[in-house]
Amino acid sequence: MALLIGCHLSSSRGYLHMAREAMSLGANTFQFFTRNPRGGNAKALDPADIAAFRACAEENAFGQILAHAPYTLNGCSADPAIRDFARRTMADDLLRMEATPGNLYNFHPGSHVGQGVDTGIGFIADMLNAVLFDGMHTTVLLETMAGKGSEIGGRFEELRAIIDRVELHDRLGVCLDTCHVHDAGYDIVGDLEGVLAEFDRIIGLDRLKALHINDSLNPCGARKDRHAKIGEGHIGLPAIARIISHPALRHLPMLLETPNDLDGYAAEIALLKEHHA
Ligand code: FE
Ligand code: FE
Ligand code: ZN
Repeated sequence: MALLIGCHLSSSRGYLHMAREAMSLGANTFQFFTRNPRGGNAKALDPADIAAFRACAEENAFGQILAHAPYTLNGCSADPAIRDFARRTMADDLLRMEATPGNLYNFHPGSHVGQGVDTGIGFIADMLNAVLFDGMHTTVLLETMAGKGSEIGGRFEELRAIIDRVELHDRLGVCLDTCHVHDAGYDIVGDLEGVLAEFDRIIGLDRLKALHINDSLNPCGARKDRHAKIGEGHIGLPAIARIISHPALRHLPMLLETPNDLDGYAAEIALLKEHHA
């Protein structure tokens, strides 16, 4: 199966533009923010743009695309107004996603801001129970986090605990971010097999639906969440080549979130294709 590879793109010019931009970079998938990071109103969907995008993606054998919730969204804030805002934003995003059925919606579980992991996990599950709906055509992904500050999702056990509390958990999956898991202390450089075995034991590899491919400016366990260009960080190209070629991972959509302009992304996409066995 061909590598499903892409990068984060700006959504300001619509879906068809993103698909064409992805193709110009050598990509066959992409990631985008559903709205600006401050989480304001999303632009109205343009039915003609959506139809043209769907035809283009089909014709060019695109993999699933990954919509990313605003990273400021915090469904486990201590402030009820912020939790409510997160819930309404996600509910709106998931309705909009029905226009492009069969794709992926990724979000950061959130930061418990001192309330404790269990309280935070409870709020996140409450939000998911409120926004997931019967018959939806999107898979919602919990992103593995670096564990910076009071972030939830730095441990596989925390993601498992959220999934366990969600009624429509068949609509849930996980997006593994290489920089984040490395930052959280999982040694994907020295012991990829061990990390994947642990993921499988705690969450289940069948839940893994996408990868964020990033190098890291910091060593394993640093909990800093600073992405580096591929091959310019503490993960390094050989480890990333093993990840993208691993039998348990090689079929998944892989999205770059490295500090690059479009030319830089095109070069990294070519590099990953070259190292995909
Ligand atoms: Fe993210
Ligand atoms: Fe990420
Ligand atoms: Zn990150």
